[in-house]
Amino acid sequence: MARYIKAVCRLCRREGEKLFLKGMRCSTPKCPFTKRSYAPGQHGQGRKKPSNYGLQLREKQKVKRMYGVLERQFRRYFKIASKSKGVTGKVLLQLLERRLDNVIFRLGFAASRSQGRQTVRHNFIYVNSKRVNIPSYLVDKDELIQVKAKDKAQNMIRENMELTKDRSVPSWLELNPNNLEVKVLRLPEKEDIPSTIQEHLIVELYSK
Ligand code: SF4
Repeated sequence: MARYIKAVCRLCRREGEKLFLKGMRCSTPKCPFTKRSYAPGQHGQGRKKPSNYGLQLREKQKVKRMYGVLERQFRRYFKIASKSKGVTGKVLLQLLERRLDNVIFRLGFAASRSQGRQTVRHNFIYVNSKRVNIPSYLVDKDELIQVKAKDKAQNMIRENMELTKDRSVPSWLELNPNNLEVKVLRLPEKEDIPSTIQEHLIVELYSK
């Protein structure tokens, strides 16, 4: 799958918000966004007030970049959300939040979503006793997520948990830290997502 491989800190500056793409560095004074919180490039500090379309576009780009999803996949999520019975924007966020790489990040098993993606890709994660190495896998209610990795990888995951211990485990997941087992208690709600996403802007953009 294609991936964004350029300097990711530019993306935070472009979106005017910390997207937490670089793991632990994001919470340190070394974060470039703390020093330069304006858009990158020659005209970064002199941009005009954005239009409605501009606001909608930026919100969509922000969410895509935050979750590490490319345009085609993001549109696919939107299509599923718009066909569902629920409120489109909420279902869209729910789909993104249910991605396995995001869940691994939220649990603190990985310092960033890209590390979460790597953890899944390296066959360390099992769902309902079956190995799942697809980062976009959507976890569901009552599923059991387990870590089955050799000592080195287990240690890495435990180290990440220690480093990210200030990040609380979302209430829709129940973590047993002793055996690294996680039960999905329910599907996530907007309130479970610690971010300032205005999903209605994305719905407006795609509904044109
Ligand atoms: Fe964004 Fe993290 Fe880079 Fe800071 S360190 S600009 S939060 S990716």
